[in-house]
Amino acid sequence: MARKSGASRESGNAQPGAGKKWVYSFEEGKGIGKEILGGKGSNLSDMVGFGLPVPPGFTITTDVCTHYYKNKRSYPEGLKEQVEDAMKRIEKDMGRMFGDPENSLLVSVRSGARRSMPGMMETVLNIGLTEKTIPGLIKQSGGNGRFVYDAYRRLIMMYSDVVMEKAEGIEPRDDESGIRKQLEKIMSDMKKKKGVTSDTDLTAADLKTLCGIFKAKVKDVLKKEFPDDPYEQLWGGIGAVFASWNGKRAVSYRRIEGIPDEWGTAVSVQSMVFGNMGNDSATGVAFSRNPATGENKFYGEWLVNAQGEDVVAGIRTPNPLNEDTKSEHNRHLQSLENAMPKIYRELLAYKDRLEKHYKDMQDIEFTIEKDRLFMLQCRVGKRNGVAAVRMAMEMLSEKLIAKEEAVMRVTPEQLDELLHPIIDPRAEMEAAALAKGLPAGPGGAAGQIVFTARDAVEWAKQGKKVILVREETNPEDVEGMRAAHAILTARGGMTSHAALVARGWGKCCIVGCGELHIHTIKKELSAAGKTFREGDWITLNGSKGNVYEGKLQMMDATEENKMLHEFLKICDSVRKLGIRTNADTPEDAKKARQFGAEGIGLFRTEHMFYGKGSDEPLFRLRKMIVSKTEEERRRALDELFPFVKRDIKGTLDAMDGMPVVIRLLDPPLHEFVPREKAKVEQLAKDLNISVEELEKRAEDLHESNPMMGHRGVRLGVTYPEVSEMQVRAIFEAAAELMKEGKKPYPEIMIPVVCNVKELQNQQAIVKNVYDEVVAKYKLKSIAHMFGTMIEIPRAALVADKLAEVAEFFSYGTNDLTQMGFGFSRDDIGAFVPDYIRKGVLPEDPFQSIDQEGIGELIKIGIERGRRARKGLEVGICGEHGGEPRSIEFCHKVGMDYVSCSPFRVPIARLAAAQAAIKEEQKK
Ligand code: PEP
Ligand code: MG
Repeated sequence: MARKSGASRESGNAQPGAGKKWVYSFEEGKGIGKEILGGKGSNLSDMVGFGLPVPPGFTITTDVCTHYYKNKRSYPEGLKEQVEDAMKRIEKDMGRMFGDPENSLLVSVRSGARRSMPGMMETVLNIGLTEKTIPGLIKQSGGNGRFVYDAYRRLIMMYSDVVMEKAEGIEPRDDESGIRKQLEKIMSDMKKKKGVTSDTDLTAADLKTLCGIFKAKVKDVLKKEFPDDPYEQLWGGIGAVFASWNGKRAVSYRRIEGIPDEWGTAVSVQSMVFGNMGNDSATGVAFSRNPATGENKFYGEWLVNAQGEDVVAGIRTPNPLNEDTKSEHNRHLQSLENAMPKIYRELLAYKDRLEKHYKDMQDIEFTIEKDRLFMLQCRVGKRNGVAAVRMAMEMLSEKLIAKEEAVMRVTPEQLDELLHPIIDPRAEMEAAALAKGLPAGPGGAAGQIVFTARDAVEWAKQGKKVILVREETNPEDVEGMRAAHAILTARGGMTSHAALVARGWGKCCIVGCGELHIHTIKKELSAAGKTFREGDWITLNGSKGNVYEGKLQMMDATEENKMLHEFLKICDSVRKLGIRTNADTPEDAKKARQFGAEGIGLFRTEHMFYGKGSDEPLFRLRKMIVSKTEEERRRALDELFPFVKRDIKGTLDAMDGMPVVIRLLDPPLHEFVPREKAKVEQLAKDLNISVEELEKRAEDLHESNPMMGHRGVRLGVTYPEVSEMQVRAIFEAAAELMKEGKKPYPEIMIPVVCNVKELQNQQAIVKNVYDEVVAKYKLKSIAHMFGTMIEIPRAALVADKLAEVAEFFSYGTNDLTQMGFGFSRDDIGAFVPDYIRKGVLPEDPFQSIDQEGIGELIKIGIERGRRARKGLEVGICGEHGGEPRSIEFCHKVGMDYVSCSPFRVPIARLAAAQAAIKEEQKK
């Protein structure tokens, strides 16, 4: 067994801190606050303050935890005495003495951070049970030896695991399990030998024997006696809770939840009450409202003659608390309402009191000891997305909370749950993930594996649900991606092609799943030592990035939810940021409008050359690309013009009265060069050139580094006629709509700009075409704007110059991150996960704006841009525009709007509202 020496936890070293209050009894703690007493300690004090029956106890402050870690795991001066005094107070309240052989007090030691970290830290129950106190306790319990030895075996199990093993930093070797597992095995062997199945079938004598075996095993494995002194047990428990603040589980939970390490945990010591003292005793957990549906109905479970851990462990099916909690699984079991009506009514009254005070749904733990109700804990209850929205809206109409509070009550992740079908959480809990990738498109999907886009289309036509599995996707896969139910790739990051497209469609998608080995030719996929073939079922959780074997049960969370719409309207009333969408088709535009978009922040012109219905325009685009002379190119552009105009018109129409940012052609042209033989032949024929000549022309377009090559505005500078055609399509579409009485508002956007001269060059084209179209349609003017993307670091730095020409900026943070970091956005799968794992980067900068670096570029650009042009419109159209923390950043730096894919619009509405509220609260 590997052993690391345990830290010294002796108290009483000459440390600073004498005279400071380190310990608060529950009576003293009212109003001291969570920062000092932790959530649990603070709430226990509140409950005592309200006169609720709480078993007496005290809380050791979070300051002690801070001291402990600053001073080589030692305690401040005065703590020992204060704890002993507080213990005396409990002894007095309870009329029992800690360690007294006749009338012994037992306590529990529990953790409690400022914010709840469920299950992440340690608890030890039944402290104070020793060889000396056991007989007295048996007497006290009316001769119930079974109960006492059961409590003792629980103490040995918990204490040896939490205090003697984990807190000492002892890591069990791979080939052996921890002490708790070893003790559990001894107990289950005993049950087998006795021919019984339930713990409660073991007799007092059995349990007594078991405790002896347990103690010997502990000594044998951990090389230390199980302590038989009550104070040694108490300090061991306290030390273990502090040590657990820096345990692996707690540290990673804090990283995920953004809880600062400095907060520390408090420790609450509370006298034990027992729910397992017979049939007049019980224990339970209750929620002041239903945490799964949000319904305002008291909801909970209880077990007669049991301890709290029995409810949580799920060994016995708990009884329903009341009629409202009955389900098909527990209908046959007696409710507390029925079995102990007086106590139920008392609990109900306390529930009301607590909810009224905390103004939020409460999660309550209670114990009944010999017909007496005790409140052990209350805290704000966890809930799912459906429940979060319902509770927020109902508490608002009950006037329990204000609208700002209602908005803050729903997290963006909870809202996301409501917008996509999800894997049934119960099914997911029981499944082990095969592999993990990046959560690119939220929601869940189960489907049959296919390996090519063509198969995806074919199988989908036959009515099958398929998951398209690819090494990576490229634009030629778009048809297959559309047909697929979900997409899974081994490579690529959050802004890779697959991720972008999937998110745009609200499709479930996982990318950069490096643990997959894909053999496209053999049509095989291997992961976690298993091989899957075409047609095998897998299930994806695109919100978490998990891949599962087989077909997991799905749940529809997308049902028409009236309350959701009302909730989002409230968000709209408090947010300052505008919300636009990235949409490239009239259908997407309409969908986004339904979700609440107030305009389009990015219409990517090139998307009309991908996917359904793109054959004809793509063919003409290709003709244009491989043209040799301007004349040839103009001919191809003339043919392309009607398609471009039609799509733009449709989108402007769908967004009538709202701004539509239309970006001129952006990607490197060779992306569109045909590779299929039949397509090459057809194109050569149409151009009246040989296949060899066509291939040579295509070859000439090859670039070593296309993302930094001939793309964006650079195309427009070398081929002005390409910009001219697009601008004409925009103005003519707008002019025609105006003639129909509509109010189009195009904002023409030039991509990949780094220099004002590029903008001036394109502006001249725009002006010329504008004059021609206005004249042609006999209009006075066409309302529009001319602006640029800021997606190259240099553009942000020369923003003042750009703003002399540009009337608006839109931050393309995908490319700005790519070029700011020098990380290829399509290749980060190879190293960014390692960077995150090793702490080199806190997170993927393509998911959430890197505020330290890229954020500075954004701020500089806005400040310089607005210095040159007051009222410069600024927005964001990179993928970050739909990510809540990035949205908060956009709010803080004073952007006018964020733009994101249609399915993320509701989340953006919420995140923008929360950003505005947080700012107000700081003032
Ligand atoms: C960007 O770079 O952020 C952007 C929106 O453009 P694209 O993703 O099309 O490069
Ligand atoms: Mg870009």
